[in-house]
Amino acid sequence: MGMNAFFVSGTDTDAGKTVVTAALLRALRDRGVDAAAVKPVQTGVDSPEDGGCDALRYEAALGGGRDATARARTLLCFRLPASPHLAARQEGRSVEAAALAGSLRTACAGHACTLLEGAGGLMVPLNARERMLDLPALLDIPVILVVGNRLGALNHALLSLDALRLRGVEVAAVVVTSPAPDAAEGSEDAAIARDNIAFLRTCAPTFVLPHCAELTAPRTEAAGWARAAAALAPLAEMLGRRLGLLSGAGEEEAARKEREEAMLAFDAAHLWHPYTSATRPLPAYAVARARGNRLVLHDGRELIDGMSSWWCALHGYGHPRLVRALQEQAAVMPHVMFGGITHAPAVALGKLLLPLLPAGLERIFYADSGSVAVEVALKMAVQFWHAQGRTERSAVLTPRGGYHGDTVGAMSVCDPVNGMHTLFTGILPRQIFMERPSCRFDAPFDAASTEALDRAFAAHAHELAAVILEPVVQGAGGMWFYHPDYLRHLASLCRRHDVLLIFDEIATGFGRTGRMFAAEWADVSPDILCLGKGLTGGSMTFSATACTRRVAEGICAGDHVFMHGPTFMANPLACAVARASVETLLDSDWRGAVARLEAVMREGLEPCRALPQVADVRVLGAIGVVEMRQPVDMAALQAFFVAQGVWIRPFGRLIYLMPPYMSPTEDVAHLCAVVRQAVAGCR
Ligand code: PMP
Repeated sequence: MGMNAFFVSGTDTDAGKTVVTAALLRALRDRGVDAAAVKPVQTGVDSPEDGGCDALRYEAALGGGRDATARARTLLCFRLPASPHLAARQEGRSVEAAALAGSLRTACAGHACTLLEGAGGLMVPLNARERMLDLPALLDIPVILVVGNRLGALNHALLSLDALRLRGVEVAAVVVTSPAPDAAEGSEDAAIARDNIAFLRTCAPTFVLPHCAELTAPRTEAAGWARAAAALAPLAEMLGRRLGLLSGAGEEEAARKEREEAMLAFDAAHLWHPYTSATRPLPAYAVARARGNRLVLHDGRELIDGMSSWWCALHGYGHPRLVRALQEQAAVMPHVMFGGITHAPAVALGKLLLPLLPAGLERIFYADSGSVAVEVALKMAVQFWHAQGRTERSAVLTPRGGYHGDTVGAMSVCDPVNGMHTLFTGILPRQIFMERPSCRFDAPFDAASTEALDRAFAAHAHELAAVILEPVVQGAGGMWFYHPDYLRHLASLCRRHDVLLIFDEIATGFGRTGRMFAAEWADVSPDILCLGKGLTGGSMTFSATACTRRVAEGICAGDHVFMHGPTFMANPLACAVARASVETLLDSDWRGAVARLEAVMREGLEPCRALPQVADVRVLGAIGVVEMRQPVDMAALQAFFVAQGVWIRPFGRLIYLMPPYMSPTEDVAHLCAVVRQAVAGCR
């Protein structure tokens, strides 16, 4: 479950955050809620006992004593009364959002509701890279925004609300405070202050904390806290209900459930899901949002993601760099046609990709999905030979067990049994199939495993435009990992018989197998390469087909042109987020992360091998597979996984994991433990 906490931020310093936090803490406590307040970073003090600490005001609001002290904490203190980045630097220290978020999770664990009070406004730097806003975003908790009611309040409040919404952080409430005694009734200032409140009410649930002069004198302070807490009683009630701690929570939950059921009913009646029946659809789970390696369901349950949304979400969900790239590009130019036009996002992405790709790939075609990238690759191969006048070279050779997408051309090279070729007889181009590569990745290479390849070349080389396959890992067609020497042998045959080699790295690209591209395991460069899925870190549908100069120039021999040009070709939004994703990957220790996931999955899945219902267990990079002897009951297993707090989608005889690279070790260990339990329960 998510954290029961709220982050109190101000539109600026001196907006009244501390008074609001303390008064709200008191109001919650007055309602019997087990509440606490934490100041993550306090500047301008020597220690947590220093009289300048905001936590002392929380204690005062609760009336002091042992219980009050236990409910008021300060995590980090810095002497300089300045922004955390500067105050920490002065002492040769640093503040890191992830570490701080970890401490805050622990600090919140013992209470039913915790208020976390920020320092300054949302954009206050924690360090050179991170802002105060990163804390509620990382913790995935709503913000209570405190607005000092003075001139400029609306500007600051609206900027803050925009920043929160653009970061996907929910605004639970706005609290308007009066930093100075209220202006005389009937004055212009009073009218402005009233209008500020009325305006903010149109933006968010807004509460008002009037000026409490009593708080400034020790003699009247206790009365001041009582009055302030009474003023914030409606907010405390709302938060308490939201957390299911106060009466009325049941009605809100019932209303939420009703909305969710209506949504699922519409979905079941009118929307199609992947590979499902319209009349007997499998249950679908309503996901409200996704953060890091967690999917959050509408009912608030959090699931550990074991799928990376089918290989895509390399960095998890909502990575700030990717979100920012999308927002900034959306504001400038989400799309423009690529016919006769170019743009900086396309060029910048090309410059970033080219040096990463296997040697010799020099020209890129950007399209809109993996299947289309495969169509483009197949068309490139066929047009290449056509332009040379070699029209007899139009067939494509591919191993069984492959998967390349669901469009007609791509389907023609998918496994003919799993790919349901019989359903589409007559419209699928007829391709040439050979045995799947039989030698395991983790076994010594067996030279006999290339015999089928040799036979296929002997019989068909003269009519082949190309060979297409997924290097090292056959994905959706069976999650099979084969020996890289197979690819070396294949590449030498292609060279000898002048057949183009197409690698589909739509699933394997961008580090998933432990190498940037799976082709690197064999040190082989294809003539044509398909990329997709993780190219945008899972943010948008997008793909790229890259080819060598020979292929590009061959296609365009004479006055030929390449005959493909989708509407959304080189979509600037997709290019911008792809660039951000690839840069994020390159800036990270992805090799270390993938190696860590590999080790955890090896250890966690290996025990399954001993069970009679298990045919095989294999792990490579950030992919872990348990192959069963019999097909699994997908709907039943899915429900079991969700009940165990994980998102794993089995298919056929396969239960497999491919978590985001940033997944914490304990989460991946939990995914494995749940798989072990599920496998043990299968026949
Ligand atoms: N090739 C491979 C290897 C894939 O795994 C997939 C998607 N599972 C595709 C192509 C098709 O990509 P898309 O679903 O984006 O069309």
